[in-house]
Amino acid sequence: SQQIHLASRPEGTPTTDNFELHSTALPDPREGEVLVKNTWMSVDPYMRGRMVDRKSYVPPFQIGEALEGGAIGEVTESNNPDFPVGSKVSSMLGWRTHFISNGEGLTRLPETALPDQSFLGIMGMPGMTAWTGLFRIAELKPTDTVFISAASGAVGSIACQIAKMHGCKVIGSVGSQEKADYLLSLGVDAVINYKETNNLTQALAEAAPQGIDVYFENVGGEHLEATLNNMNDYGRIAVCGLISQYNATEPQPGPSNMAMLIIKKLKMQGFIVFDHWAHYGEYAQQMGQWITEGKIKWEETVFEGIDQAPNAFIGLFEGKNKGKMLVKL
Ligand code: NDP
Repeated sequence: SQQIHLASRPEGTPTTDNFELHSTALPDPREGEVLVKNTWMSVDPYMRGRMVDRKSYVPPFQIGEALEGGAIGEVTESNNPDFPVGSKVSSMLGWRTHFISNGEGLTRLPETALPDQSFLGIMGMPGMTAWTGLFRIAELKPTDTVFISAASGAVGSIACQIAKMHGCKVIGSVGSQEKADYLLSLGVDAVINYKETNNLTQALAEAAPQGIDVYFENVGGEHLEATLNNMNDYGRIAVCGLISQYNATEPQPGPSNMAMLIIKKLKMQGFIVFDHWAHYGEYAQQMGQWITEGKIKWEETVFEGIDQAPNAFIGLFEGKNKGKMLVKL
């Protein structure tokens, strides 16, 4: 098996030096065990947090050990009747080409016509995050004007389309013209390229003259400050991520305009999608239906080979992906 280990803890933006490719021989699977060959793995922004040695909702990665994350694989040897040879499985044992498992933490993919890797994207954690943030946290209403940051990414591009289907007016922010065009092609009402504007508050006021009722926060920093200035009374903010701060080497100052929360009587709530996993069935059924009806689209950016996994991960912070960032193994 080839595995990517954490070689050192990144300071600031991760570099390839923080990762190391290792090869190890795996034993034959024993009674009750299976050998899984991974075919796809996910890289996600939250993994940056696990590279820091601190207590959080998931334990930190350890230096000299293989990283972990969402993966899809196929059982190639089996001594476990629950996972016969040929079974497609999802696990949290990404960042490696093969692994031995006793079945714990393995989930068989349902029989669908969908591509396997969609269970790392639209049918998996990122899609569920978009839906959870909009409905379970922000309590989305059809009359809402919604602003979504990192709008062309895995979570953002799904959130944009769900909000449109719900009847909302949707504004997205992205880091390139190509991404803006992509979102407009999905029916998003207005897109801001934050790299091309020096006044986000004003750009947002122009994109949403009627004000913003729901902010799906993926970025933080200036994005939050500008949005607070443009929120309507009784607006809701679902804090999903703060990617602009994940590589910060110093604590970041909060928005200078937190008083807007009071003046506009806003609600702001963070969430972790895993806490809502009991509702995954509901999500999967709804999303499956939207996909069958051709109502939703998704994109993937694919890096090939385990050795490219660090570059795919680093690419998340450089905006190299449109839709879900994946590694094909
Ligand atoms: P994305 O597919 O959106 O990839 C990250 C994107 O973020 C990049 O493509 C880039 O797009 C944008 N970005 C990177 N750096 C910056 C920056 N400094 N300022 C503004 N934008 C930046 O990732 P995901 O969809 O997987 O995740 C999106 C957000 O959701 C993240 O904040 C993540 O942590 C969070 N998340 C939270 C979960 C939860 O349970 N709370 C679960 C899953 C994700 P661009 O070119 O537009 O800049």
